[in-house]
Amino acid sequence: MKETKHVVIIGAGFGGLQAVKKLAKDKSIRITLIDRSNHHLFQPLLYQVASAVLSPADIAIPIRSLMHKKKNVTVLMDTVTEIDKENKQIILDDKRISYDYLILAAGAKTGYFGHNDWMKYTLGLKTLFDALRIRNLILKSFEKAENHPESAKELMKYIIIGGGPTGVELAGSLAELSHSIINNDFRNIDTRKSEIILIEGGADLIPSFNRELSIYAKKKLEKRNVRVMLNSRVMNIEDNKVFLKTSEGEKTLTANIIIWAAGVEAVNLNNTFGLPEDKQKRLIVNRYCSFDEYPEIYAIGDSVNFRDEDGKSLPGVSAVAMQQGRYAASAIRDLIKGKELKPFKYTDKGSMATIGRKDAVADIFGIKFTGFIGWLMWLGLHLFYQVGFKNKVSILITWMWSYLTFGASARLIQDTPGKEELESMLYSLKK
Ligand SMILES: Cc1cc2nc3c(=O)[nH]c(=O)nc-3n(C[C@H](O)[C@H](O)[C@H](O)COP(=O)(O)OP(=O)(O)OC[C@H]3O[C@@H](n4cnc5c(N)ncnc54)[C@H](O)[C@@H]3O)c2cc1C
Repeated sequence: MKETKHVVIIGAGFGGLQAVKKLAKDKSIRITLIDRSNHHLFQPLLYQVASAVLSPADIAIPIRSLMHKKKNVTVLMDTVTEIDKENKQIILDDKRISYDYLILAAGAKTGYFGHNDWMKYTLGLKTLFDALRIRNLILKSFEKAENHPESAKELMKYIIIGGGPTGVELAGSLAELSHSIINNDFRNIDTRKSEIILIEGGADLIPSFNRELSIYAKKKLEKRNVRVMLNSRVMNIEDNKVFLKTSEGEKTLTANIIIWAAGVEAVNLNNTFGLPEDKQKRLIVNRYCSFDEYPEIYAIGDSVNFRDEDGKSLPGVSAVAMQQGRYAASAIRDLIKGKELKPFKYTDKGSMATIGRKDAVADIFGIKFTGFIGWLMWLGLHLFYQVGFKNKVSILITWMWSYLTFGASARLIQDTPGKEELESMLYSLKK
């Protein structure tokens, strides 16, 4: 009888889900999928939750429901704290689980380039909690301004640090919310006077895109009244203050809300891994998304640094994680069958980012699209890759509604717990 191999997958994000889908087809393999949260999150649309367009449930789906037909997959909601490579075990809070093969797909978290003290003055955008926190604080800032119109100018001032796709999309979406969607709802303030500042350290926005598209994105954001500051390096951040070094000298900006969209680093789990890491704490993997000393361990997606044939690191995007997830699954199936492995090869199909309603930039297989066509392509692709039929339908209806009515339907302020409430929640969870 064929021996059953046990594969443990850490993380049900973009990479982990693709791996499990492919592996689960082989019924002789037993799979344990572990994630610290109970849902798969479609991170590319987090900014739409933060800007009150979509609701959290539109972009998240329970992992258990995605796996319920796959009888050889067990889902565990738990946090992996360490990996015992020598004994082929992963370590959870209160137990160990043995594996024959391991796929590490634990992703990344917000990174501050070593300035972790900036975390307390800024809001990151990586989880549903982050997105809801931004949404609450932005909506609250308008409510407070309506109550205190004399302070509206300071209250409606927002800084976004990081001119990559997340920063650009969030700036465009916030501009739309404040400058057109909600203005008629207030009586004492003019929300069109909100100030949104997008800060980028380099010479271009969305630097990974073709330069023509970067210039287009800047022009379109400025047309939407976003102040774009290029070549502006953040030197320090304090309460409501950002200290910059710009080509015109040092500057200090103030804002009610400061959003950090400038960087990520691999999740903490890697610290305990004991294998080579890069500056962003990502594991450096070989051409097989694995390690020479531990060929039974695969590491994929945002938590790794994979260098292609030219020595260039692959970007931290969903397409890389998904292709590596499928690759790791095939490689494990081939290893079990004793077949020889081929190195991983990434196919770059392009990238896209929205600037706002009816406007996006897209670079698909080297062909550039902008404006309405780019936006339609962006909509189609994000719906296509969205996990779960219900979420696809719900997002499509919400987008159509927003498009026709200029509305943002998810404008609820749901207070997130304070420090004491969080501590008491943690206490009851531990009991
Ligand atoms: C705001 C934002 C916008 C983005 N926009 C785009 C975009 O437009 N296009 C694009 O291609 N990419 C985009 N990305 C990047 C994309 O989301 C990531 O590249 C992708 O999610 C990486 O997939 P992954 O599987 O490596 O990690 P993730 O999808 O992050 O999944 C990691 C999983 O591991 C779990 N996990 C972490 N640590 C542990 C642990 N210790 N124990 C158990 N489970 C753990 C997490 O809960 C999570 O479910 C965006 C990211 C963000 C944050």
